[in-house]
Amino acid sequence: MQDQYERKIEYVRISLTDRCNLRCRYCMPEAGVAKLRHEDILTFAEILRVVKGLAALGVKKVRLTGGEPLVRRGIVELIRQVRQVPGIEQVVLTTNGVLLAEMGEELAAAGLTGLNISLDTLDAARFAEITRRPLFAKVQAGMETVLSLGLTNIKFNCVPIYEVNDGEIPALAALARDYPVKVRFIELMPIGCAYEVGYEGVPMDEVRARLTEAYGSLHPVGRKMDRLQGPAEYYRIPGFRGQVGFIDAMEHKFCATCNRVRLTAEGFLKLCLNQKNGLDLRGLLRNGISDENLRLALRQAIYRKPAEHLFTDRENTARDSRAMYQVGG
Ligand code: SAM
Ligand code: SF4
Repeated sequence: MQDQYERKIEYVRISLTDRCNLRCRYCMPEAGVAKLRHEDILTFAEILRVVKGLAALGVKKVRLTGGEPLVRRGIVELIRQVRQVPGIEQVVLTTNGVLLAEMGEELAAAGLTGLNISLDTLDAARFAEITRRPLFAKVQAGMETVLSLGLTNIKFNCVPIYEVNDGEIPALAALARDYPVKVRFIELMPIGCAYEVGYEGVPMDEVRARLTEAYGSLHPVGRKMDRLQGPAEYYRIPGFRGQVGFIDAMEHKFCATCNRVRLTAEGFLKLCLNQKNGLDLRGLLRNGISDENLRLALRQAIYRKPAEHLFTDRENTARDSRAMYQVGG
């Protein structure tokens, strides 16, 4: 379906949980988060109803995220069921990779069509510093597992931060030299603990410049191949098996081509990453709404999707106070 600005909405990002086995400094406080009660989060049956409703309106791609989606029990079965919803063409996952060595094989068998692994460093000590957990070896084992499974559509996502991991930009990009994967650099956004901890994100122009310095010229890849693709701009580098990508969240707005909505773990349909308006689906689902009325409510809410995220507008009164672990990135 189209929203009021004639953008075609084909993609939903679903946060399965607020909980996480890491505490990335820019995302979560050390103490973790006030845990949602089990009854506060949508059941898998409720999530499936929403997915079916959205699929009937034209949504074709589902991303499962969090918090850390792999800590929610039963996720493999959920993937299998979402894959079977008529109209859903892609079911993908965003994870920190800690549990991939254990779960990679069953996730692939369940029909996952793509995997995003968040990876800000290749250095075990720095990983422990950024995430406050000494679990890099597990992530490394998880990466080896998924790279050996023959899954296509693997992406690594890195948030480059000055004086934290900016020296590793070429080394992280080199994963796309050595493997047929995409390595994407994402600008640090003013959400969650990012600025409180004093982190300063590296602008994408500078990331591009540093890669050009390390590897020579970057060649843009046309955008039209995959209409369900996200806001990244991809480039080839001579000699690389994969591609590198950039998400200029702040500077070069991608709102005009935004194709997505988000569902929080508590069942709130968010229409824009940085804005609080949306729809309380949990309330509707638990008050016995019919499938037909659910579709109608989804259609009316999506139609009202805001024009843009207004990250740089300090006066924005519609700004959402939810952190990234609550909306799933
Ligand atoms: N736990 C999973 C993971 O880390 O991949 C999924 C959820 S996590 C919130 C999704 C993504 O959001 C991660 O890649 C993380 O780096 C990113 N993220 C969190 N806070 C951010 C911020 N302030 N700016 C930019 N990206 C952020
Ligand atoms: Fe957890 Fe992902 Fe946030 Fe890190 S970025 S604390 S892994 S939810």
